[in-house]
Amino acid sequence: MASASVKVAVRVRPFNTRETSRGAKCVIQMQEKSTCIYNLKQPKDAKNFTFDYSYWSHTSSEDPSFATQRQVYLDIGEEMLLHAFEGYNVCIFAYGQTGAGKSYTMMGKQEPGQQGIIPQVPKFIRVVKGDISRNLLNPKSKGPLRVREHPIMGPYVEDLSKMAVTSYSDIADLMDCGNKARTVAATNMNETSSRSHAVFTIVFTQHRHDQMTNLDTEKVSKISLVDLAGSERADSTGAKGMRLKEGANINKSLTTLGKVISALAEMQSNKKRKSDFIPYRDSVLTWLLRENLGGNSRTAMIAALSPADINYEETLSTLRYADRAK
Ligand code: ADP
Repeated sequence: MASASVKVAVRVRPFNTRETSRGAKCVIQMQEKSTCIYNLKQPKDAKNFTFDYSYWSHTSSEDPSFATQRQVYLDIGEEMLLHAFEGYNVCIFAYGQTGAGKSYTMMGKQEPGQQGIIPQVPKFIRVVKGDISRNLLNPKSKGPLRVREHPIMGPYVEDLSKMAVTSYSDIADLMDCGNKARTVAATNMNETSSRSHAVFTIVFTQHRHDQMTNLDTEKVSKISLVDLAGSERADSTGAKGMRLKEGANINKSLTTLGKVISALAEMQSNKKRKSDFIPYRDSVLTWLLRENLGGNSRTAMIAALSPADINYEETLSTLRYADRAK
């Protein structure tokens, strides 16, 4: 079994209208793979990080250093897909504060050249026949879905729809349906802030016929594309009651995901042995993604960053999270 490997990228977006109207200043600088963040309140306080990719998407798209959606897909999406063809389970997830660009990177927009990683993946596979799991939030199901564990197959979501697809438009329709069903709740940070994790899974089956031996073989890999809930701490969004509880659950799953990934990364660099404990069971998210994170799998994380001084603390915490995943 191959050891786990994690690719880490960070991506900074342009200022949004809120930042522009507040006269925000850019605190991020990128050069090749390195990303530097400046604390404007403390001159000389600059922190430097190095990642597999540092994507500059802050200035206009005319800027030659601007990382387009296509570039991000080619670097990360395509590499992960090639691993899926080799038979690995793969997982790409986007982490970051609400409004930092997770959905833009994963889903993007309809306009030409604006599509994110997820819509570009099935086009590459050129679907012939397969299964697709609908968004965890099935609009027809009543109440939350339950996570169970099968003695052989491992954890699964009870009553989750798995749909056979025959064309890219089948997948696009399902994604559209899943996205509409995704729960969103307004917080003080952003009216459309997403307080849920969206997991989009493609079960990718390759059939081979060996003419020499006349044997048929099947290789199955799972491709999970995850748009995580906003990483901002509940106390900075003014959440109360149910929202606060929801926020605590989200934070717990993000913290556990971080621990799982850094444990896997340590294993990769041989600081940890295979038998050492990886806390998959500490959150539903990591438990469900277990097969896509450890063992026979390849993982990529894209951390989305705001360029603005007013988000300094959250951006620094995102950079630290990404740094631990390496
Ligand atoms: P999140 O999913 O992290 O809450 P979004 O992806 O919805 O954030 O991004 C917030 C806004 O910023 C959206 O209007 C999105 O189109 C824009 N945006 C995010 N990242 C980029 C980028 N790299 N280039 C251009 N616009 C971006």
